[in-house]
Amino acid sequence: MSRILVTGAAGFLGSHLCEALLEDGHEVIGMDNGVSGRNQNLDGFIYHDDFSFVDHDVTEFIHISGELDAVFHLASLASPVFYRDYQIKTLKVGALGTHKTLGLAKEKDATYLFTSTSEVYGDPEVNPQPEDYRGNVDCYGPRSCYDESKRYGEALVRAYRDEHDMDVRVARIFNTYGPRMRLDDGRVIPNFVKQALTGQDLTVYGDGEQTRSFCYVDDMIDGLLALYESGVDEPVNIGNPDERTINELAEVIVELTESSSGITNEPLPPHDPEVRRPDISKARSEIGWEPTVGLQDGLKRSIEYFQEEMENAE
Ligand code: NAD
Ligand code: UDP
Repeated sequence: MSRILVTGAAGFLGSHLCEALLEDGHEVIGMDNGVSGRNQNLDGFIYHDDFSFVDHDVTEFIHISGELDAVFHLASLASPVFYRDYQIKTLKVGALGTHKTLGLAKEKDATYLFTSTSEVYGDPEVNPQPEDYRGNVDCYGPRSCYDESKRYGEALVRAYRDEHDMDVRVARIFNTYGPRMRLDDGRVIPNFVKQALTGQDLTVYGDGEQTRSFCYVDDMIDGLLALYESGVDEPVNIGNPDERTINELAEVIVELTESSSGITNEPLPPHDPEVRRPDISKARSEIGWEPTVGLQDGLKRSIEYFQEEMENAE
């Protein structure tokens, strides 16, 4: 049994990760300041004997008493709509929050896992993106608060690995979806499902021919745990290589919800990447992981969750 700190625990991925770690028999300390997370995400395990929660902003000094075996740093603003509104918080959590959590992991001699992003590749000029692609990011662009905070975070993790001989992992996460995403977080799947279930037109930005590759949350959590166990201290892409256009995604969601909604095209947000697809060769060969949940199946499970959320909100 290990003792593990998870930052961003009240968020979408953080809450699923805490649950999986508890199921594996670990003691988990969840930390979050609630900026985009929700207490209800913790409902299923808040009273678990091996879980405790600390309400804390990770950009401030972190004190945890006792030993720690691992720190999983997930805290960040993660939706383009949120990080556009909280640019400074986004930069601070990627820079100061990564610094504080690395300092804590060093003090405790704990393994450190950083959740980076496919956004380090920016608007990629190669598709799919392998880990050695260096990216096409505008450091003064509208998404730079997020992209650069994660790029800086990766650099900081590497520096701690090299200078302090720390045991580190870097997960480059590609678009992930599933239960516990906020209906109002502005990402494409919650937006489309909410619109389809309420009979509103689906808002496709631009011509909808831009692509994304969507990974179901259970696969993502398995991938993060496989990376943690693997000992690989270089970045690894974790995502589902099943690449779809946003138009295709809209069609599938309309079909699965049996909705009568149409499509409305709205302006493409500036610097919205044209393509995104992970090359997961490294994940397959070095951590022995690949996704198993198909888009239709994952969407069905997510739609059920969003439906319940909407009924509870009524
Ligand atoms: P989320 O917004 O649901 O969860 C992030 C959590 O971090 C929230 O609960 C938020 O309150 C918390 N947080 C933010 N700043 C904090 C701070 N200063 N102190 C303490 N807590 C803070 O997002 P998510 O989708 O679960 O993403 C989790 C991680 O995975 C993030 O680091 C994100 O960048 C990364 N990621 C996610 C995706 C995805 O598709 N979901 C893709 C790439 C990377
Ligand atoms: N998008 C869309 N309609 C929406 C929300 C998003 O067409 O209501 C598009 C967005 O422009 C992008 C893709 O869907 O091309 C994925 O957007 P999301 O915000 O989920 O994440 P991103 O991959 O851009 O970080």
